[in-house]
Amino acid sequence: MKYKKHPILLSLMLICTTLIFIIDPLGISTAKTKAANNIVIIIDPGHGGPGTTDEQELGAKYNGVVEKDLTLITAEAMKAELEQYGNVTVYMTRTSDQAITLANRAAFAASVGATAMISLHYNASSEHNFYGAEVFTSAFGQYYATGTGLASCILDELSASGVASKGAKTRIGQSGADYYGLIRHGVTNNIPVIIVEHGYIDNETDWNRINSVSTWQQLGIRDATAVAHYYGLQKGVPLADITPTVIVAAPSNIMLPDLTPPTNVSVTISDQDPSGKVTYQIKATEPESMLMYYTYSLDNGLTYAPLKLWDGDSSQTSSLEVPAHYNGNLLVKVYNNYELDAVSPPALINMEVTEESLPDSSVSDASSSPTVSDSIPETVTVSDATLTSVSDSSTTYLWADTLQNSLDKSEIVISPVQSKTNGLLTKTIILISFIIALVLTIVGIILIRISLHKKHRRR
Ligand SMILES: [Zn+2]
Repeated sequence: MKYKKHPILLSLMLICTTLIFIIDPLGISTAKTKAANNIVIIIDPGHGGPGTTDEQELGAKYNGVVEKDLTLITAEAMKAELEQYGNVTVYMTRTSDQAITLANRAAFAASVGATAMISLHYNASSEHNFYGAEVFTSAFGQYYATGTGLASCILDELSASGVASKGAKTRIGQSGADYYGLIRHGVTNNIPVIIVEHGYIDNETDWNRINSVSTWQQLGIRDATAVAHYYGLQKGVPLADITPTVIVAAPSNIMLPDLTPPTNVSVTISDQDPSGKVTYQIKATEPESMLMYYTYSLDNGLTYAPLKLWDGDSSQTSSLEVPAHYNGNLLVKVYNNYELDAVSPPALINMEVTEESLPDSSVSDASSSPTVSDSIPETVTVSDATLTSVSDSSTTYLWADTLQNSLDKSEIVISPVQSKTNGLLTKTIILISFIIALVLTIVGIILIRISLHKKHRRR
């Protein structure tokens, strides 16, 4: 009866209720966004275990160090650094010298709701000639997209420390799935996994930079900085909203690795100084990946000089020194970043040197000890547009690759991305709430009108 006397109050209460209906689901969705914005990063120190001969447990072994120890030191530093940022929970797959299977590492990541897993490694090669950092990602869809975005941030950071970047790469196994077990187990568990190779412990160029506990820690700090940068995290400040800073389009096709060496490799002698200095120009083509290293041979390919970084576009100018009266072939070998190489046809060095100008040196590389500036590759700023176009062009090419025919595509199952489902749920809640709010508002307005009409009649 009281409400009949205050119909406007009743109407206002209804309108307030509608407002609560509008605000509440938004509140829920904000909470959801906040939950989604607290990312979970799994740091996986590669290898580990008490075995003294098991290569899987030890990892690379050279220069008196073992990979499993280095990865743990880097991981601890990465965790400590990343935890200083807001919106992130960090876990490690191991905190001691433990043997854990790849499947169990991925299962652990899944059990704590991992957003992404970063597996830390150090490299070695059979001929100890390669150097530089590289990152492996899944070749499939969203796993490729997230992995490549993270990889580009990490490689930018590692390059800034002076390590050469061998790029972000994929690798496919015999079955047509990702080659690396941890990446495969990541896909099975709906987690993007990347494998970060921080440099070669068996190569002088890299070892000179990464031969101390402090450098292994510094690399971990750089990894953390890169991950924080990728997700747009702020140090010490939890943000209401975080978004990846590097957006890579999820490819619809498999992002195959480059399986062919560089082509059209040639060398020409541009200058033969009587002092023994030979300047030469190399040309090579590599449309599918990138030219990475070059080297030369003065003994028709029996031995090669240490690899130097390719820092040109399609041509590279360099120099070397030869002994007096040198007369012989110069061969060059060019590598892409997939470690595939091609050798040039020979160019003839024919020194017409006078007795007075003879150099006393034997054959030596004119710049065999590269400086830091030599080895820092040009940093490529990854923008949405370039990455998308890069993805598109390589997809087009790689799709035509012969390996494609042998791939059993039916084996590959890519789980749907979870966030899409969450997004749909939120949208549905908001829509239903909006309808309820609309109905209640109409009822409120009708009630106000009825009450005003009654008042009018009473008068
Ligand atoms: Zn390893």
